[in-house]
Amino acid sequence: MTGAFDLTGRLALVTGSSRGIGRTLAQGLAEAGATVIVHGRDAETAGRAADEISASTGVGAHVATFDVGDSAAVDAGISAIEQAHGVPDIVVNNAGVQRRAPIAEFADTDWDDLVRTNLSSAFYVSRRVAAGMIARGSGKLVQIGSVQSQLARPSIAAYGATKGAIAMLTKGLCADLAPHGIQANAIAPGYFATELTQALVDDEQFSSWVRTRTPAGRWGDTSDLVGTLVFLSSSASDFVNGQTIYVDGGMTAVV
Ligand code: NDP
Repeated sequence: MTGAFDLTGRLALVTGSSRGIGRTLAQGLAEAGATVIVHGRDAETAGRAADEISASTGVGAHVATFDVGDSAAVDAGISAIEQAHGVPDIVVNNAGVQRRAPIAEFADTDWDDLVRTNLSSAFYVSRRVAAGMIARGSGKLVQIGSVQSQLARPSIAAYGATKGAIAMLTKGLCADLAPHGIQANAIAPGYFATELTQALVDDEQFSSWVRTRTPAGRWGDTSDLVGTLVFLSSSASDFVNGQTIYVDGGMTAVV
């Protein structure tokens, strides 16, 4: 790849890239030339994904395993990455979980899982990598939000709250880091078939509602997210900061 979208020589960390959306995003960054760090909690799954990415692109792929919801683990994990490979140029805060239940039945443990994995994670990782990015005077932070930051549905009040907060965290990162040459933006996906949404995919009534409610008339394919991420990771987006871009087939544009 050449020109403004070329990521050759850049180092990219994608949290939660052992599978699902993150796996496709890591592949896409590698295809644009970046050396990627594939991440998850399971070393075997992340290692397999890194090997596949490296073999298919000819670009280096490393592995990192730490719990993004644990502040000390994040600090240790990013320190190890910086010692081994340097300060990442691109950090994608993608790792996340889903928990669904009506609000009156929502368990504390599910609330805690959502907040620590979907929100605290992006705060811990961004805070830890910011120091090195500030010292270098450049960096790209991309958070993976959700249409649920804008559209509520029954049983996902807590999930939506974490994703709404991601949009505001992204603006705050922009306020603190733009003066240092760093861009922080977010991508808000619509509905994509992954392990996280497997129960919804299997529910034919819901699955058909997604197709009807999405102006594009279909579920997203994880590859639909790659172009926006490559843009937000490249010098083409150097004057784009604090924004959330909805990649949802038009879902949030139309009632
Ligand atoms: P998946 O469940 O398919 O993948 C989640 C990834 O995150 C895995 O690699 C998992 O690896 C990792 N992960 C989960 N918890 C942790 C943790 N505590 N520490 C480190 N890694 C963790 O989910 P998706 O790919 O569907 O979702 C990715 C992101 O996209 C999430 O933030 C999600 O909210 C968001 N999103 C998804 C949509 C969809 O339709 N699928 C729609 C909108 C947003 P491991 O379990 O091995 O640690």
